[in-house]
Amino acid sequence: MNLIRKYPGLLLALAGAAVAMIFGVAASRLSFGPPLVVLGLGGMTLALGGLALYRVLDPFLGDPSEQPVGPQAPIRRRELERDKQAVLKGIREIELDYQMRKIAEADYRDLLQRYRARAMRIIRELDAGDDYRSLIEDELKARLAMAAGACPSCGSTNDTDARFCKKCGGKLEAAR
Ligand SMILES: [Zn+2]
Repeated sequence: MNLIRKYPGLLLALAGAAVAMIFGVAASRLSFGPPLVVLGLGGMTLALGGLALYRVLDPFLGDPSEQPVGPQAPIRRRELERDKQAVLKGIREIELDYQMRKIAEADYRDLLQRYRARAMRIIRELDAGDDYRSLIEDELKARLAMAAGACPSCGSTNDTDARFCKKCGGKLEAAR
């Protein structure tokens, strides 16, 4: 396959001509002369036509693992970025709803758990090794830690409605 990819036209044209001429000699008992040359040219044309068709179809026939990742990666990254924003927005909204007593604590915890599961899926997907990865991961982890009531300075867990850290006294509200 490498050889064909390197010299596709030449190799295939010669092969087509050879096949046609062998057919001419074997089946029609043609001796070397104009008819055989014409037959060879016909085979060459057929082979080049086949090559043109192959080139058109090539992108659809390729091994999926050989597909270029370059042009597709940024699209996937944008999708993940959108998902991440949606998750962060959702977390902010339920935090606000909970603080305004619009939702019960049980619902708040349940929703938070779901958002956290979704965030973990996004992080796993980003684990492919982009430069973006650690950035998004840190942001998400920080946000999730805060949503869970963890102190941004010392990381100790506080009640979700606490304004100051019970361990270091750091302000919890400011970072939200
Ligand atoms: Zn603290």
